[in-house]
Amino acid sequence: MPRIVVTGGAGFLGSHLCEALLERGEQVVAIDNLVTGSVDNIAHLFGEPGFTFVEHDVSNYVWVPGRVDAVMHLASPASPADFERIPIQILKVGGLGTHNCLGLARAKGATFFLASTSEVYGDPLVHPQPETYWGNVNPIGPRGVYDEAKRYAEAMAMAYHRHHGVETRIVRIFNTYGPRMRPDDGRAVSNFVVAALKGEPLTVYGDGSQTRSFTYVDDEVRGFLALLDSDVTTPVNIGNPDTEQTILELAQIVLEVTGSSSEIRFVPAAVDDPTQRRPDITRARELLGWEPAVDLRTGLEHTAEHFARALKR
Ligand code: NAD
Ligand code: UDP
Repeated sequence: MPRIVVTGGAGFLGSHLCEALLERGEQVVAIDNLVTGSVDNIAHLFGEPGFTFVEHDVSNYVWVPGRVDAVMHLASPASPADFERIPIQILKVGGLGTHNCLGLARAKGATFFLASTSEVYGDPLVHPQPETYWGNVNPIGPRGVYDEAKRYAEAMAMAYHRHHGVETRIVRIFNTYGPRMRPDDGRAVSNFVVAALKGEPLTVYGDGSQTRSFTYVDDEVRGFLALLDSDVTTPVNIGNPDTEQTILELAQIVLEVTGSSSEIRFVPAAVDDPTQRRPDITRARELLGWEPAVDLRTGLEHTAEHFARALKR
């Protein structure tokens, strides 16, 4: 039975991934320091055979006794709100944390899987973004701590692949949303849905003309597993190109889906906020046979149900 280490396993994506791996009959060791995650996300897995949780900061030395077949490195704060709150921790987990997890993978002869991001493209000058695009990143702006940490992590993974022969899988994740996002996470979907449900204003940063493409969590995790099971060592975009919306349109759709009469309020734009983002998923389609299946309104309905329950609690 394969045994998989999932760093960031108590986070939004990590907890869904742990669940999906356990459903395939695999054993999971989730490692998390709970900086942005929560044990609540994985509490239902504690009784599952084959599931172990370790509270640990992977920016410090990482060791897991016994067999390990894959190290899936998802640990990293991911919300732009965190880029200013905990910038050094983000740089450390992308740099030192990635190095430690690569060391573990190498020592165990395991595959190393990196959760990278569409942020490696920065404010892209090519649209939609194929994996061959090198990006347009400001290294010293507030987003640089995250973007450059992930770019460094990709470089480190490829160096371990070329120099040490470690099997690598690198997923470039595009804005993913769904149940278990934190209500106060700070990202657009969680902010908008929570505000709509509370009857509070939806805050649009700037004029709302910037675009994003939104992927439902089930599609994203299915993409992770397809990539893990493949032999593709270089980066693959996993995102939903059919859902590209301006942020103002997203706010309006959230109001429709939740039946809310909240107002939309415009506030100053975020520094270095990318103006457009949409994945080219030709590689995922051709190499992994992966396609997103959940449309934006359906995904937002599921997400709104999750937040409605969370707010009641
Ligand atoms: P999240 O904040 O819910 O999950 C990240 C998890 O990592 C949290 O549980 C956190 O406590 C843990 N963590 C952070 N630093 C750690 C450390 N030093 N040691 C151990 N654990 C640590 O965010 P998420 O959206 O689930 O993101 C998961 C991964 O996917 C991240 O690497 C993120 O960069 C990447 N990603 C996510 C998105 C998205 O839209 N959700 C987009 C691009 C990339
Ligand atoms: N955004 C917004 N209001 C919010 C939160 C975010 O207008 O309350 C905007 C943000 O400026 C960005 C987009 O929504 O243009 C997506 O932001 P998010 O934080 O979800 O992800 P990222 O910027 O990393 O793509």
